[in-house]
Amino acid sequence: MQTYISEMAKAVSPSPTLFLDAKYKQMKKDGIPVVGFGAGEPDFATPENINKAAISAIENGFTKYTPASGTVELKKAICEKFRKDCGLEYNIENIVVSNGAKHSLTNIFMAICEKGDEVIIPAPYWVSYPEMVKMAGGVPKFLDTTEENDFKFSPDELEAAITSKTRALILNTPSNPTGMVYTEDVLREIARIAVKHNIYVILDEIYEKLIYEGEHISLATFGEDIKNLTIVVNGMAKAYAMTGWRIGYTASNADVAKAMSNIQSHATSNPNSIAQAASVEALLGDQSSVEQMRIEYIKRRDYMVERINSIDGISCRKPNGAFYIFMNVKDLLGKEHYGKTFNTASELCDDILERALVAMVPSEGFGIDGYVRLSYATSMENIKEGLDRIEKYIKNEY
Ligand code: PMP
Ligand code: GLU
Repeated sequence: MQTYISEMAKAVSPSPTLFLDAKYKQMKKDGIPVVGFGAGEPDFATPENINKAAISAIENGFTKYTPASGTVELKKAICEKFRKDCGLEYNIENIVVSNGAKHSLTNIFMAICEKGDEVIIPAPYWVSYPEMVKMAGGVPKFLDTTEENDFKFSPDELEAAITSKTRALILNTPSNPTGMVYTEDVLREIARIAVKHNIYVILDEIYEKLIYEGEHISLATFGEDIKNLTIVVNGMAKAYAMTGWRIGYTASNADVAKAMSNIQSHATSNPNSIAQAASVEALLGDQSSVEQMRIEYIKRRDYMVERINSIDGISCRKPNGAFYIFMNVKDLLGKEHYGKTFNTASELCDDILERALVAMVPSEGFGIDGYVRLSYATSMENIKEGLDRIEKYIKNEY
């Protein structure tokens, strides 16, 4: 029999971040002393109070189906989080809990995209956005930004990118892969433009707890009109070091939430009941571990920024959030290293992995050339060792 694959599936490429992560973890397992700056996964253990809540959920038999879009307890905890953190009022009918923020995002596009609808994706972007839009029949429209502008678009550039087919803008702040954070004045302008053109803002705030200068300001707080158009995406993975637990959530108007919930009720049913119980504790319990992790990330970021900018051939901006450094490697491209000339960040990363045993994500998957993403969700010891190796590699000492 000839295998048949749908046109939609053929158009989707695999996640380069997860591919690299799997490769890195396999190398480690095989005893190869590789240093990983690859996938954005906190190196900290999930805090003890969260683990304990999961254990008692199991012991108390909380191991059965829950409502498809999440338990009332977790939805209430999420509403409380929004109220406490930024004064946003939501009710449980506005909340959908899913199997990670990735699942929340795929539900959103399925719920709001008509075939051919355009979704504006500022580039560099997190690798999964364009593929998710395509999976829902939408068309990704890239809005390129530059390093000179801190990888941020201006309100005018946004307005110029809007067409009669635009359904939504994806706004990820703090950003993966650049770590940049939009300021309040620009967010207000973005909100004004979204309301004027009646487009959704898919606001991915998964790195909201990891901001190193200033406070987190949510665009959904700028009035009822923009709140109604905003679909806030968040999750437990990054702030609470819970990547494997797979809990993400959205806050949106009740119609969008209902549509997403209906889709989810057929696709996956509820997210894991035990992880939901643990997430209630994560959101309502002691928050001191979040702050401890944040402080540790600041130290790592500061060390990396200084070190990278002291090495000839590479440079980076100082990110204000998330846990990524977006390193400019343009000076290394088109030149000879170890008898070979690398023209792309991908080729360079492959060689650095092979020769220096350092794993990094090349920028092509993020929709821009000439950069490499390094995650600092890894120990200071690894960071120092990894940067020593990169420096040695650049000096042609391998
Ligand atoms: N959005 C962004 C910007 C991310 O970096 C990630 C990382 N995985 C996600 C969403 C998805 O998170 P989750 O692990 O909860 O699916
Ligand atoms: N979001 C993380 C990253 O960008 C984890 C991997 C993924 O989900 O793609 O590395």
